[in-house]
Amino acid sequence: MPKLKVENLKKSFGQLEVLRDLNVEIKEGEVVCIIGPSGSGKSTFLRCLNQLEEITGGKVIIDDYDLSDPSQNINKVRENIGMVFQHFNLFPHLSVLENITLAPKELKKETDAELKTRALGLLETVGLTEKVDDYPNSLSGGQKQRVAIARALAMQPDIMLFDEPTSALDPEMVGDVLEVMQVLANQGMTMVVVTHEMGFAKEVADRVIFMDGGYIVEEGTPEEIFNHPKHIRTQDFLNKIL
Ligand code: ADP
Ligand code: MG
Repeated sequence: MPKLKVENLKKSFGQLEVLRDLNVEIKEGEVVCIIGPSGSGKSTFLRCLNQLEEITGGKVIIDDYDLSDPSQNINKVRENIGMVFQHFNLFPHLSVLENITLAPKELKKETDAELKTRALGLLETVGLTEKVDDYPNSLSGGQKQRVAIARALAMQPDIMLFDEPTSALDPEMVGDVLEVMQVLANQGMTMVVVTHEMGFAKEVADRVIFMDGGYIVEEGTPEEIFNHPKHIRTQDFLNKIL
């Protein structure tokens, strides 16, 4: 049974059809990278997966649970799917620790001490233990993004979505963030990653999806997509960026 199943997903903004008819199955522990030109619908697709956008048609199913069912419990989505954005979106008035513990605290399932212990463990994973009491504006872009990853993980999601997590970073910061993502992948996290980092996609992805114009044009292993792309649009895109 797939961890995440997308059936005939459609999304329009008014008259503009952005996602036309997407079908995707992602297995537990699989790492899927999504590539494609700007405006092809990659971000909208991720946002539909965690219900940041109301979908126009089709289904999004996690485990057995139909997220697109209008009677859904939105907390189920928040607890199961973590998301990391291009622009970190940390809360500037909260410390690193408070940023990480804010959302799980709202669930009222754990004591403050338990939350702090877990937050420190997560900061260790992302290599930022010493920043626990610092505020976001004292961190570099790469450090902010690693805190944002720790914050998403604090909800103990079983799927992580990344939307161009390194696109806003200075080049020398990119490696640290990709390394953290690679560790997560090695730990068996189910991940959907929109990225322009083709090296990461080649190394870490189990599967690569090429999107263009709101369609999945082609998908396959990194070897298939990067070395033997079948579709002319995939070839054109790769020729432009590689
Ligand atoms: P990508 O992430 O691949 O660059 P997006 O998913 O951001 O693409 O955008 C796909 C298309 O949807 C673009 O034409 C964009 O202008 C449009 N779009 C995205 N969000 C909205 C919105 N909230 N309202 C109207 N149009 C949108
Ligand atoms: Mg985008």
